Amino acid sequence: MVQASDATPVVPRAELLVVQPTTFCNINCTYCYLPERSVKKRMELRTVELLGERILQSGWTADDVTVVWHAGEPLVVPPEWYERAFAVLARHCPPKVRLAQAVQTNGTLIDASWVRLFKAHDVRVGVSLDGPRVLHDSRRRSRNGRGTYDRTMAGIRYLLDAGLPFHVITVLTSDSLACADELFEFYQAEGIKRVCFNVEEIEGVNQTSSLDAKGTDASFRAFLSRFLERVANAPRPFWVRELATSVAMIMATPDVIIPNQQVEPLAILTIDVDGNLSTFSPELIGSHAPEFDDFRFVNLKDGGPEALLAAPGFRRAHAAIVAGVDACRNSCPWFRWCGGGAPANKLSETGSLAATETLYCRLTKQAVMDVVLSQIEAGRLPGMEKAA
Ligand code: SF4
Repeated sequence: MVQASDATPVVPRAELLVVQPTTFCNINCTYCYLPERSVKKRMELRTVELLGERILQSGWTADDVTVVWHAGEPLVVPPEWYERAFAVLARHCPPKVRLAQAVQTNGTLIDASWVRLFKAHDVRVGVSLDGPRVLHDSRRRSRNGRGTYDRTMAGIRYLLDAGLPFHVITVLTSDSLACADELFEFYQAEGIKRVCFNVEEIEGVNQTSSLDAKGTDASFRAFLSRFLERVANAPRPFWVRELATSVAMIMATPDVIIPNQQVEPLAILTIDVDGNLSTFSPELIGSHAPEFDDFRFVNLKDGGPEALLAAPGFRRAHAAIVAGVDACRNSCPWFRWCGGGAPANKLSETGSLAATETLYCRLTKQAVMDVVLSQIEAGRLPGMEKAA
């Protein structure tokens, strides 16, 4: 999303609430960043009430707010709990705020009861799927080391059979970068029409990445070029987040500010299972960082956005993030498109929120924009030539 620039000071507004209904995940992916994924804790409905009271009713939200249930496997908590949680949030939601519900799930628990819930509440569904079995099962495994491909695909088939729209998030590793054609053909064969590419990140408790190697930049660019070529020549429309967002940014006129939610206070609010409130990159909450109060800036029991903005840990983190954004602005040719990157990746990769370039941004910001611009310039994205 882009916004017009004018002289009006920007008032921080919460647009995305990332809510952790449980710490627990029923599988154990090799690249997972969550430190407490084996801990079985569920959010109390009293905390959901506080979320409604302290956030939705605070006056600090945008008119359109999306709640994403994530950071642990959200479907470990039963559908009945969500029925109650959605009702609580609807009760607290002011008339002018449009509230959308979303889940990001590993898909292994989706069945008819989930399909009913998703349909009844128009829940936007994202499923983590790393492609064909060999790629998916190499990283996305159960606690006893078995692949989860069959269970994830079974969940996806429930969505397909019900005609429910969904997207998949595919984490790219060094193995997948050689498989652009295989991935594209897999999605086509399975009826998957919307894909977001993440990269195997050095983040949180995951301190290594197969992409942290010489030659990754070139192989990532080659992967994306080939994949987008296949998309451009596909018989049916196929949506790729990286392409859609890049094209929107390229089409924006110079007076338009391209926002970066991850560095804007409040734009993303993260609420953990205990009601702790954070902002900036959602992955920051709970990171070991005493200087920033482990990014648990305030608890909903004690206040909402206003209390967060006054919290000493927040203020220190904000100052460091602003320093990082300023350093990016002064040094990086991709700054207009990126807006200073992802604080969580800066911290995990370099130990500092004030850092600039990371592996994450070289791939997901710099390489993505370069590849999309090259495709447009080469006339491989029909109708886009004038935008380049
Ligand atoms: S691409 Fe990297 S270095 Fe450039 S602005 Fe973004 S985070 Fe900063």
